[in-house]
Amino acid sequence: MTIGLLGFQTTIAAPVTMKGIGVHSGAPVSITFQPAEAGTGVVFTRLFEDGSSVEYRAVSSQVGPTDLCTVLGSSPAKWVATIEHVMAALYALGIDNVMVEVDGGEMPIMDGSSYPFIEAIEQAGIVNLGIKRRYIRVVKPVRIDSGASWAEFRPYDGTRFEVEIDFSSPMIGRQKWEGNLTAETFKRELSRARTFGFMRDVERLWAAGYALGSSLENSVVISDDDTVVNVEGLRYTDEFVRHKTLDAVGDLALAGAQFIGCYRSYRGGHKMNANALKALMSDPTAYEVVEAPSSRAARVRAGEFVPVSMPELTPWFA
Ligand SMILES: [Zn+2]
Repeated sequence: MTIGLLGFQTTIAAPVTMKGIGVHSGAPVSITFQPAEAGTGVVFTRLFEDGSSVEYRAVSSQVGPTDLCTVLGSSPAKWVATIEHVMAALYALGIDNVMVEVDGGEMPIMDGSSYPFIEAIEQAGIVNLGIKRRYIRVVKPVRIDSGASWAEFRPYDGTRFEVEIDFSSPMIGRQKWEGNLTAETFKRELSRARTFGFMRDVERLWAAGYALGSSLENSVVISDDDTVVNVEGLRYTDEFVRHKTLDAVGDLALAGAQFIGCYRSYRGGHKMNANALKALMSDPTAYEVVEAPSSRAARVRAGEFVPVSMPELTPWFA
């Protein structure tokens, strides 16, 4: 298949600010996407009231806890949490370089999907920086297993996701989403799928001081009698697996580069996505770093991308 993205690095054309609440803290939070130079990657900057700040490159080596969401950093006083829906939007739109400034410890949850971030970024506009983008091309299968769950990368001439979930709740049951990932398919088929949870879990989390911002405004909630509590119902009949796929896109974006290959998972989640990415990146024989051939760098088949000799420091090994 043809890679549905330009072979060049991009950033956003202008700053754009969004306000919302953190799903875990329940506190108001404001973020600003700022344009960045080629080679910057995605960098989150947490701003503190005293004028100090801390920066994290959005790469897997910076990932802390992955129990409830994906977090950059390891200390709650300094980390940036719940980055996955922002990362998914940036990845799907092909934004290689951007600074994400945040005045709190987590991204705003907005409506629980990636769609508000897509809208904001498209409103800002996307610019081509004229420097070639590097891709990670999977060249041999890498698989991890954890009980009944598994995830694997396979070589593929394009970027593809095959995500399957299997819940004992009949409301969810067994669902699968599979498709080639382009900005268009992401926007149309995945971006509006919301976070979901069970009422009994939400009540337990609230009691423990988590998920304080979680509500029907930003989550699909399933009641104890296995029905959807939200009066508006579902946005897609299989919204649950679509959200899991959206999460996987965001988690794999922490490779620090677009990948060429197929990612498959069964009963996965943030932890499994993070561990699968680590397994891939820790096996140098399983992937190669490629870029578009210089002669025709605009739209080419993934198989025509050429390996690059790896520089000393690449963002994804930071
Ligand atoms: Zn999510």
